[in-house]
Amino acid sequence: MSRRVRSLSKLISVAKPCLLNQADAGIVSQTRSPTINFVLGGPGVGKGTQCARIAETYGFTHLSVGDLLRKDISSNSVYGDMILETITKGKIVSSEVTVILLKSAIESSQTDRFLIDGFPRSEENRVAYEQLIGIEPEVVLFFDCNEEEMMKRVLHRNQGRVDDNIDTTKERLRVFEAYSLPVIRYYSQKGKLHKINATGTEDEIFKRLRPIFAT
Ligand code: UDP
Ligand code: MG
Repeated sequence: MSRRVRSLSKLISVAKPCLLNQADAGIVSQTRSPTINFVLGGPGVGKGTQCARIAETYGFTHLSVGDLLRKDISSNSVYGDMILETITKGKIVSSEVTVILLKSAIESSQTDRFLIDGFPRSEENRVAYEQLIGIEPEVVLFFDCNEEEMMKRVLHRNQGRVDDNIDTTKERLRVFEAYSLPVIRYYSQKGKLHKINATGTEDEIFKRLRPIFAT
């Protein structure tokens, strides 16, 4: 067994009782087959803003994985300190923890059409998702915008986040390029990627999504 798989099994055996007590009946049970779309793009590119609009207009449940992690910090979970430290540094939280939180959010939802915002952020995230959730995404959106603009948007948004500062955002941009672009290339090769020009007004960007969702 590889080190990664071993650590995955160990973590799941520890985490399962608290996080996944209904998961055996799971997703991802045979009776449910949710539609999953991934929404990717660098920090501040507008994933959250556009996801909220897509969700409302086209009938999806918007799950921001960053928000799930921040909620987990607020709930004083056993992972809270580790998650806070990772987010503060602009790094990627361990896949095992993230995927367990995501799985639990999907399973506890009464709906079955999801926009997963800000995940998978690395190839390791993607593989862990495939192993633990395994629902092939239908569409993968990639909001594309230059770094200068992303930095500007992050520094202007004022949401009181520990990671919305120059130094952490520089690191998030570096992490995005090193770890998230490979995921984007992967889905591009699979023919699932829709690259959206994310410069312009909110309305302009939203209109570019119409051909994908208004079918
Ligand atoms: N994060 C993570 N894995 C995920 C999603 C988020 O580790 O799947 C962490 C990571 O540290 C990231 C932070 O949460 O920098 C904020 O993510 P979010 O998607 O909320 O930020 P955004 O890209 O929207 O600015
Ligand atoms: Mg966001």
